[in-house]
Amino acid sequence: ATVLVTGANGFIATWIVGYLLEQGYSVRAAVRIAKKGEHLLRTYASYGDKLKLVEVGDVSVDNAFDEAVKGVDGIIHTASPVGLYADEPSEMIDPAVKGVVGILQSAQKHAGHQLARIVITSSCAAISHFSTVPITLSEADWNDGPVKECEEKGRNADNLSKYAASKVLAAWEFVDKHKSEITWDIAVINPPWVFGPVKHDVASFETLPPSNQYFYNAVIKGDILGGFPAITTPGHGFVDVRDVAYAHIRALEAPAAGGERIICCAGSFVWQDIIDVANWLSPKPYHTIAKGEPGEKFRAITWNTEKQKRILGIKFRTLESIVRETLTQWAGRGY
Ligand code: NDP
Repeated sequence: ATVLVTGANGFIATWIVGYLLEQGYSVRAAVRIAKKGEHLLRTYASYGDKLKLVEVGDVSVDNAFDEAVKGVDGIIHTASPVGLYADEPSEMIDPAVKGVVGILQSAQKHAGHQLARIVITSSCAAISHFSTVPITLSEADWNDGPVKECEEKGRNADNLSKYAASKVLAAWEFVDKHKSEITWDIAVINPPWVFGPVKHDVASFETLPPSNQYFYNAVIKGDILGGFPAITTPGHGFVDVRDVAYAHIRALEAPAAGGERIICCAGSFVWQDIIDVANWLSPKPYHTIAKGEPGEKFRAITWNTEKQKRILGIKFRTLESIVRETLTQWAGRGY
């Protein structure tokens, strides 16, 4: 079977491509420009022509995926702008929404009847923003606030809201509207902060994924970049990149994943937890570790992950293993 992976050179997708190849799939790896796929081809050179690149250009351009979807049995759509620095909400939202709608449209028109499922990477930000009060969240929750905030405030909206909003809109509406015409279904993966070792092309610390830069700043400087709450409050969720990647493969295969959004979260954390774990580890995986503000912490959000356990059945890596392996990789690379 052949699976199309979009944003294939990304942090999460590079792991996805590897797991698909390991499981015997052929992979069509969609990248913006062929050059972006060179590292991927080198990384998985041993799989020969089981891995093929396809150039799709900017995913927000109409019909970007028309060629790429032809004849595939499954699609994993990860391509989306990631970052917390957009000026206008539309910079984040338009490519994210147009990319999702674009792949669904291309699939509907050009994929063929063998296509069974499209797995889409969303985010826990589509479920909730930060909370300062204790709250338990599940797939039944929707983060509607940011969409409204972006509509009302435009460029003055909080950066996180822009990101969250970009993930809330789109796919479900499309599927609902076209349900009588499509023969495939969708499954949506909602990860919180994704940490862990990188396998994609990262030339230097500055080009680490945004989530890993925050992680780095927390552990090394005891501080995270501006615009975020302090390191001790209020917390969100974390997951290892390898587990999230594998969740996409399970979501493609598990019959019960069809039509579901699934939270893939290993637990709640505040940034100080990462610093504390880094300090407990022995031997120390990294030369410089901040102290931060140790002590009792309040973790506002509890994530209900029953659906993931029931449908995908993945046992997620712990924060300790994430911190150890991430810092070991960075130390090895001289970051
Ligand atoms: P990366 O930035 O590493 O990967 C994003 C991929 O999308 C890249 O291949 C990028 O291509 C591609 N892409 C983005 N915008 C466009 C565009 N306009 N046209 C073509 N390609 C585009 O991010 P991640 O692997 O971290 O993210 C993958 C998915 O997971 C995203 O949907 C993200 O929202 C979601 N996610 C990530 C979290 C995290 O903490 N990392 C948390 C929750 C959700 P290029 O390299 O050419 O820019």
